[in-house]
Amino acid sequence: MRKPFIAGNWKMNTNSLTSVGLADHLASGSIELEGHAVTLAVFPPFVYLRAVGKALNGSNIAIGAQDVYFEPDGAFTGEIGVSMLKDIGCNYCLCGHSERRHVIGETDELINKKVAAAISGGILPILCVGELLKEREASQTNEVVTRHVKEGLAGLSAEKLAAVTIAYEPVWAIGTGLTATPQQAQEVHDFIRNLLARMYDKNLADEIRILYGGSVKPANAADLMSQRDVDGLLVGGASLKADDFLAIIRTAL
Ligand code: PEP
Repeated sequence: MRKPFIAGNWKMNTNSLTSVGLADHLASGSIELEGHAVTLAVFPPFVYLRAVGKALNGSNIAIGAQDVYFEPDGAFTGEIGVSMLKDIGCNYCLCGHSERRHVIGETDELINKKVAAAISGGILPILCVGELLKEREASQTNEVVTRHVKEGLAGLSAEKLAAVTIAYEPVWAIGTGLTATPQQAQEVHDFIRNLLARMYDKNLADEIRILYGGSVKPANAADLMSQRDVDGLLVGGASLKADDFLAIIRTAL
């Protein structure tokens, strides 16, 4: 039985006041969620992680980073390492978010190093995968997702895979207001689970949580969550409004 997982990616939004305000609102709103089997995490900008973590302390909402670097320490100006994330109480990090793939230019090889380093250092990675609009239109969705999953997880043992969450985020649905239909999401999630079963084994593939991301809102969250292989949601824009994010969380209870 896979426990639902709702994650909020704040991207490069909020400031020192609004990040803590949002976290305070989520912490008080999450009291009603106590006792429910759901994993919750928010991913604020690096510089607000510590303050947001303090504001969420005592709630069931964990903090995660939007990215991480794979080297342990040293001359890597501007980067943040796994042990630094652990040091300030992070449990999760995103790896290979589409904005990092397509705006910053991250490769599958780099993303794979980040996933492996995160797991080795005790941070649970969420590997983001998904196709561009032109790739979907050219019927290349499965091919692209296969590459992202295979290369992103390259060299990981079955034991390490158990630490991974996958997020299927079609790039054409991120921040655009376009959402994959529940059927489109289910189709790709099912494809990813079968791929994991071929790469590892069926029992393990059945344990791995696969989240959907791409313009999730309170109005479409329940339909997406009703799909058999949609185990949770990675929410961008709507996670910046506490009431919307809490409404999305309720669809997972
Ligand atoms: C995201 O940031 O991963 C995302 C899915 O954004 P949005 O919900 O705004 O489309």
